[in-house]
Amino acid sequence: MTSDIEQRALQILQTVFGYPAFRGQQADIVEHVASGGDALVLMPTGGGKSLCYQIPALVRDGVGVVVSPLIALMQDQVDALAEVGVRAAFLNSTQTFEETLRIERMVRTGELDLVYVAPERLMTPRCLELFESAHISLFAIDEAHCVSQWGHDFRPEYIRLSILHERFPHVPRIALTATADQLTRAEIAQRLQLEEARQFVSSFDRPNIRYSIVEKTNGRKQLLDFISAEHPGDSGIVYCLSRKKVEETAEFLNENGIRALPYHAGMEYSLRADNQARFLREDNIVMVATIAFGMGIDKPDVRFVCHLDLPKSLEGYYQETGRAGRDGLPSNAWMAYGLQDVVLQRRMIDESEADENFKRVLSSKLDAMLGLCETLSCRRMRLLEYFGERSGPCGNCDTCLIPPTSFDATVPVQKLLSAIYRVDQRFAAGHVIDVLRGVSSERIVQWHHDKLTVFGVGAERGEQEWRAIVRQTIALGLVTVDHDAFSSLKLTEAARPVLKGEQKVQLRQYQKPVKPKRTSTPR
Ligand code: ADP
Ligand code: ZN
Repeated sequence: MTSDIEQRALQILQTVFGYPAFRGQQADIVEHVASGGDALVLMPTGGGKSLCYQIPALVRDGVGVVVSPLIALMQDQVDALAEVGVRAAFLNSTQTFEETLRIERMVRTGELDLVYVAPERLMTPRCLELFESAHISLFAIDEAHCVSQWGHDFRPEYIRLSILHERFPHVPRIALTATADQLTRAEIAQRLQLEEARQFVSSFDRPNIRYSIVEKTNGRKQLLDFISAEHPGDSGIVYCLSRKKVEETAEFLNENGIRALPYHAGMEYSLRADNQARFLREDNIVMVATIAFGMGIDKPDVRFVCHLDLPKSLEGYYQETGRAGRDGLPSNAWMAYGLQDVVLQRRMIDESEADENFKRVLSSKLDAMLGLCETLSCRRMRLLEYFGERSGPCGNCDTCLIPPTSFDATVPVQKLLSAIYRVDQRFAAGHVIDVLRGVSSERIVQWHHDKLTVFGVGAERGEQEWRAIVRQTIALGLVTVDHDAFSSLKLTEAARPVLKGEQKVQLRQYQKPVKPKRTSTPR
């Protein structure tokens, strides 16, 4: 019985899609769903999720319903399927009424293999009744992490998808996502009533991506150096936090001979769509974008993804960097990160409207992100560990290639903590560092901070070096950035044993920024 399904699935893979064999867990997933089972599929971007529901939809009788938030991509998906002879269509708000009626009729009469539908459309009484009157082979819920309230792609309509289970108890459901931390996974299963579903978790490793995180001194300049040295003429994506920075960075790259286009949600729709189309079509464009850009973008030869600002979480970082190298060829994920990023992100959490519980979650996600930035061990190991995967040092990340050295930083950290204490925990990092370095600025004199015993006790270190120390003490939780208007540094409980000399602190040795090396073939 099952072998029959297996054979039909393989035959469809080969004759319809033209691939010789299934990849990874595809075969198991296809067989399970084609046999009527529910599934929760966690697979990295580029892993081949689409076939996991497309083939079962073809093996089973009736029309398969694909729920997707990516309206802009439905046309492309349907066209691609039509090209191989699969009868597919979509229902969304971009259609005329006549078009809708035509597709609805085809659903009812069983003339389609697959129909793509946006979640808000699916939830309308009209659409639910349509599907009840038709023969449905399966429901595929794509981008299932959109159901998670903790994620940055949250879509309220996704929560209501749980009614599929109640209204169509006998139709198998398959939920798919490339986001896979434990919390999101549990949330998807619970909210979509997929607790009983079989979970298929693929490895999230992307061995062809080289991860590097550098100390930010002059972000833009470092970015330019990186692109010029490693990726002249390549396609890439540069992520920035704000729309303004997106515009400025794109302009800066263009002025320096790199073809760059901006993309953010504040731009006029047609211009944004044009830029996206050019990025997909041409092969040497750098897209400078906010995180509004990228979901569902299938461009295999993106050679690098850069972050000029710290992402809010490892899920975000993983997803964004995952857009590099979908073709399996060597690619770079490069980020410049500095003290200001930490200060800014902390402040954004503090100032957000979210309740305390939510802020705690955001804060722990940021901590995990900082942990990756400050780690002395393999970046990939840290990243995969966060997704519940154990691995060894990869040999293809900056910390593996040039292992950072650590040093006993107890004394400088004590100096820093004392200085924060001596200025009454009311001043920001810049001022505290001036005190340590013995800079007699106007403000220092005005506050008589040049009379403090800690004034000038850290003169042996440069400003950048001190910034690196401050950053790491924040990442370690010894110091917090207050959400007052000044972002003043404050000591935490954890600082006490260090100040008293009861606990030592190891920090990453400060390294002057070096020019990036050329990428070679990984492993
Ligand atoms: P995802 O949705 O997981 O990001 P896709 O379904 O878009 O990934 O698949 C990524 C790429 O891999 C596509 O170009 C697809 O055609 C290709 N692909 C998927 N499965 C196979 C397979 N078994 N053999 C060869 N290529 C495959
Ligand atoms: Zn590594």
